[in-house]
Amino acid sequence: MRRKHLAILLSQLDGFSEPKPWLEQYRTPGDVASELLWLAAQCGDIEGKVIADFGTGTGVLAIGAKLLGAERVYALEIDEAALEIARRNAKKVGVDIEFLNMDVSEFNERVDTVIMNPPFGSQRKHADRPFLLKAFEVSEVVYTIHLAKPEVRKFIESFSKDHGFVPRLLRTIHFEIPAQFFFHEKQLEWITTDLYRLEKSPSKDI
Ligand code: SAH
Repeated sequence: MRRKHLAILLSQLDGFSEPKPWLEQYRTPGDVASELLWLAAQCGDIEGKVIADFGTGTGVLAIGAKLLGAERVYALEIDEAALEIARRNAKKVGVDIEFLNMDVSEFNERVDTVIMNPPFGSQRKHADRPFLLKAFEVSEVVYTIHLAKPEVRKFIESFSKDHGFVPRLLRTIHFEIPAQFFFHEKQLEWITTDLYRLEKSPSKDI
């Protein structure tokens, strides 16, 4: 599959029907999702791998990972209504994904790669922390998206290092999200985000 095809396919999936602002339910745009997945695939982190998508929402990242050859994909989501849409999207595309209706903190499988577009913490402060903590616990490689703000960059840098991970900022990407989550006057707002690859540092005793 070509990257452009992946972006188009992912952007044609159904979005949230009634997005819940307190869960920061905005979908990852198709081109942003395909950028993340493509970079991960190039690093050898998708094909033949066991993947977990944290906060899968409508399933965009999970479905894309499977299309790029992931062996097995767990897709976690706390909101059953969103998961319904994700299941429908997966069926439409014809991919097999293990959807799990749970809080990310409850997940206990080891995986090769975590991919996620977590809540940015704009509605509930630090909403991204349980996502990062669980990702550090179950995987050695994490792809994640956060707001491109100096204080967030500092946080990702230090939080990763404190948990034995090396953060690498891969791309800074602009994307459009519905205004209801951040602003009131406009219909859509552009936000600037950073895409990271966080990798466990080699252990000193090896
Ligand atoms: N990755 C999806 C959705 C991103 S929005 C996409 O790209 O379309 C973040 C998602 O995380 C929302 O669907 C929200 O319901 C979910 N979520 C928020 N807190 C969660 C938690 N503690 N455990 C699991 N899912 C959570």
